[in-house]
Amino acid sequence: MTLKDKQGRKHDYLRISVTDRCNLRCVYCMGDDGIEQTSHEAILSYEDILKVVTAGAELGISKIRITGGEPLVRKDLVQLIEMIAAVPGVTDLAMTTNGTLLSRYAEALKRAGLNRVNISLDTLQADKYQIITRCGKLEDAMKGIEYALQYGLEPVKLNTVLMKGINDDEVVDFLQLAREKPLHIRFIEYMQIGDHDRGYSSHYLPLSFVEKAAEKAGLPLTPVPLPGGAGPAESYSIPGGKGTIGLIHPISKHFCDSCNRLRLTAEGSLKACLYWQDEKPVHTVLHDKAALQDLIKEVLGGKPVEHQMAADGNCSTINPGTMRSMSKTGG
Ligand code: SAM
Ligand code: SF4
Repeated sequence: MTLKDKQGRKHDYLRISVTDRCNLRCVYCMGDDGIEQTSHEAILSYEDILKVVTAGAELGISKIRITGGEPLVRKDLVQLIEMIAAVPGVTDLAMTTNGTLLSRYAEALKRAGLNRVNISLDTLQADKYQIITRCGKLEDAMKGIEYALQYGLEPVKLNTVLMKGINDDEVVDFLQLAREKPLHIRFIEYMQIGDHDRGYSSHYLPLSFVEKAAEKAGLPLTPVPLPGGAGPAESYSIPGGKGTIGLIHPISKHFCDSCNRLRLTAEGSLKACLYWQDEKPVHTVLHDKAALQDLIKEVLGGKPVEHQMAADGNCSTINPGTMRSMSKTGG
């Protein structure tokens, strides 16, 4: 079975936020005082998440990504991985994490059926890591990356949000890291999303910056197929690289025409687009698989053609999008 929206885009991918809580407070993701947290009772249970996955898998969803907030702060996450991995039709089970707790869980996650991880890492400098995350330790994230490699949660991709004046001086250091280790570094354009100003217009940089920096450093980017299958990244090799470089540019060259994602928020709302406010709660139909499947199709039917982040090409947004921060929706 294939799920398609009005534009004919095939949808086979569900991103599930399992919590809006996090052990870090990244400057581009949350305001100074973090976010207002949803109570434990209001968060969808693992049994209910499984109902959505099962209903979606029967409709053609084969790829699942667990995200948050920080997924590894939710209790017994390994159990959820085990439950989802056993759902017929789910062929790819991945997680996006800040990696700081991964050394504790990598082995159990792999054994439970997690295929691979994306780890967020925006700097290779310990003092800067502390500033960007407001409280994290670089050594914890680096240890998480090592454990992900050691236990085969591969391909191990690193998500790096490029920010002018913050980490644009480290582009070549990240390229060197992809030379030395089998890591797939994906630079992501800074998105203006959520309910507070994070100095977006002064920190946004288009990813053409990475291509120019690579060229200048004698590490030119050559297009290659994506490691681990399709996705929004353009993938490149660099001379002598064990890993690859990915460029994800939601702003300067958006990829809405090939979007294949649906999202489930931590408190149980289905969203067809990260940007727009539209969402529908699943709670009233969880007891009835057919009704749940109708709701999935209804949400997909209302999917907008594209987002409008920085729609005037000038770093300001014309139409108001969601007031949810990335950690609230599930990035
Ligand atoms: N806590 C996990 C982590 O950091 O990987 C998962 C949740 S986090 C919200 C998912 C991804 O969203 C991260 O890779 C993060 O870098 C990205 N993200 C958050 N805010 C963003 C923004 N304003 N622009 C671009 N990416 C953002
Ligand atoms: Fe937490 Fe991830 Fe947001 Fe950083 S990007 S504050 S790690 S949810």
